[in-house]
Amino acid sequence: MLSYRAAVLHAPQTAMRIETVTAAALKPTDVLVRMRAAGLCHTDLEVIEGSLRYPLPIVLGHEAAGIVEQVGPAARRVEVGDHVVLSWNPHCGQCFYCDRDAPILCEEYLGKGPQAVAFDGQNRTALADGRQLGQLMFLGSFGEYCIVSDQQAIAVPKDIPFDRACLIGCGVMTGVGAALNLGAIAHGDSVMVIGCGAVGLAAVQGARLAGAGKIIAVDLDSAKLALAARIGATQGVHASKDDAVAAAKQATGDRGVDVVIEAAGSASAFRTTAEAVRPGGQIIWLGKIDVNKDVSFRWGSMMQEKRIRRVSYGNARPRRDFPLLARAYLDGSLMLDDLISRRIRLDEINEGFAALKRGETIRSVIMFD
Ligand SMILES: [Zn+2]
Ligand SMILES: [Zn+2]
Repeated sequence: MLSYRAAVLHAPQTAMRIETVTAAALKPTDVLVRMRAAGLCHTDLEVIEGSLRYPLPIVLGHEAAGIVEQVGPAARRVEVGDHVVLSWNPHCGQCFYCDRDAPILCEEYLGKGPQAVAFDGQNRTALADGRQLGQLMFLGSFGEYCIVSDQQAIAVPKDIPFDRACLIGCGVMTGVGAALNLGAIAHGDSVMVIGCGAVGLAAVQGARLAGAGKIIAVDLDSAKLALAARIGATQGVHASKDDAVAAAKQATGDRGVDVVIEAAGSASAFRTTAEAVRPGGQIIWLGKIDVNKDVSFRWGSMMQEKRIRRVSYGNARPRRDFPLLARAYLDGSLMLDDLISRRIRLDEINEGFAALKRGETIRSVIMFD
């Protein structure tokens, strides 16, 4: 039986403990991945803080890259030794939503995900005392190993470093995908991105890759705006000093921008999107707030043929998109180096999340030995 170290969350609002846990034998379509790098994402933080509830104890972490160490007898698509980026959206391929080209809504996925079990409904890991241990989003990448289903392990070129590669698994896919897969951004279009964390900075780059003419980045932090400018924003708006809606109008002959991508996760940001987009323009919401909260809008801002989409994973098709994003990094068109604020060890994970909460980091990445 394989034993390895993992960060285990036992209760909300407590520190994760580094413990030795055990992995079950591989099921036929399972893949054992030796973790090399794992990013700290806001969604993990929501579970730590208790605003997003999962069965506990659990291993968090869902933005990761590693090496395939072992494959089950029926596992396809990856081989031992492959470098892989992990996807948190396995899907059955045959339910109501899979048939309607919406794997993120897959009934199997949405049924099993909240239980923190593998896709077959069973656990793959246990605590030293034998108690079952959950894996967040079918992954649980804050450990030295992780058993995933073969459809979640996506091989990428071996020359992309693991710390850069792991970002593709959540934040970068979400932001770039919003722009490239959903934004329908035409060459020369004006795009506003609200919120310049990892997802927003990825959206700025997605807008650049799509050929946007103007990319207006909005944030409360000057350092993040400076970073946005380095990776493609043509203009920055410091939201505590300047009005984002006025900036959108000023840049577009008073019409409003063609596309607004929201990655801030606040009610005021959602309202701003509706005011800043032009008639007939497109709004994409990536951020989230407490699901029981209301958000109000000025009705006039919602009229005039505006289109609104709320998406979770940039309309990802990981098998298509992950290798594409890895190649975009390798050819220099997708800049990932600056998104990594800190590289930390697994036992520094609690401080890493404290820094994320304080807004000090874009991404901290755990590097495994
Ligand atoms: Zn995430
Ligand atoms: Zn399905």
